[in-house]
Amino acid sequence: MQTLIDHGANVNVMNAENKSPLHVAIENQHEEIISVLLCHPTIELKHRDRSGNTPFAAALGIRNHKAALRILDRFPSAAEQIDQRGRNFLHLAIMKDDLESVLFLIAIQVDVNSRVHDVNQSTPLHLAAASNNEMITRNLILAGARMNERDSVQKLPLHIAIERGNLPAVSALIQNNADYDATDADGNNALHIAVRCGQFLIVRELLTESRVNAEATNLKGRNPMHELCRIVEDNTAALICELFLECMPNYPIDVPDMDGNTPLLLSFMRGQSPLCKILVKAGACLGTENREGVNIFNFKLATDQLLHKLLDILPKESSWSECDLCQECTTRFTITMRKHHCRHCGRVLCSKCSSNDIPILKFGINKPVRVCSVCFNVLQSGIGSLS
Ligand SMILES: [Zn+2]
Ligand SMILES: [Zn+2]
Repeated sequence: MQTLIDHGANVNVMNAENKSPLHVAIENQHEEIISVLLCHPTIELKHRDRSGNTPFAAALGIRNHKAALRILDRFPSAAEQIDQRGRNFLHLAIMKDDLESVLFLIAIQVDVNSRVHDVNQSTPLHLAAASNNEMITRNLILAGARMNERDSVQKLPLHIAIERGNLPAVSALIQNNADYDATDADGNNALHIAVRCGQFLIVRELLTESRVNAEATNLKGRNPMHELCRIVEDNTAALICELFLECMPNYPIDVPDMDGNTPLLLSFMRGQSPLCKILVKAGACLGTENREGVNIFNFKLATDQLLHKLLDILPKESSWSECDLCQECTTRFTITMRKHHCRHCGRVLCSKCSSNDIPILKFGINKPVRVCSVCFNVLQSGIGSLS
């Protein structure tokens, strides 16, 4: 090599794959030849081969960190080059879950907050939030990656980690003071997002390891419990609901969203039986109506089975509903048309619609009290009074 160079050979000549002698020497790990080439005054270091790799990229690709460092000596910005999709070496190493390259790049002090030059404008930590290697996230944080930078759609790395169900990354971010109350473009905080994605373990992590505001409302006026009851299905929904009530026994389960829907109403309208049962056992108000006058008594599911089941398991008199109209026949209350409450479901009714009297043994009520016709049927069938 030295002899050829001494006789005027072109050190930047390319072969059919657009590789220079330096590319080839790096790929074959010929350290001495690499040295000779890198000492040459006209050596070209920005040149890309047919796969788009510069000599630095080639060195990084085969983990020849010694060669990579020597290239950096001659061409300090070699590590900051970006590819056609706007990604630099750090971005690519994170996306490949390549911890070793990430550590090397951190060691040579590349910018750990550089954004991908594309529509998402992700930072390295956004990319790491989707990585399976927790150590990448932790090392970026140690190297000074900023925790709460937003991408072009207002998401934090924490939001991405939650959406991906990436519990280790979520833990790493929370332990390093990521802002769990920060909201995305829809006003969802970390807990909203975890609930919406049905990520039970992440919900638990947030409720036990952070002080996230569990009652925050998003731009649609919904708190995380509303989102749970509106979106999440079956057992996952039930598990998360139980977790909420276990961690926060005083969680306001009767707060309505902007449309007047309570968690019970939202889950009832979707026929989510396990969720409804948990809410009823936790004391949710049965008679609450939304802005369109819909409640669990007048909303028609395919069968009345769920309503009857919920009335059957009702553990104590439901808190009284407020309404200006009888919740059965919609007669308006006046001075002469007085309000009554069903002593079982708590709905507000006219005297005609609450004319049945029956003891409610499961509540310890032994003398007959005023109930609505729905509750009368449930109680009379005997199941209710035995439970
Ligand atoms: Zn009535
Ligand atoms: Zn009733």
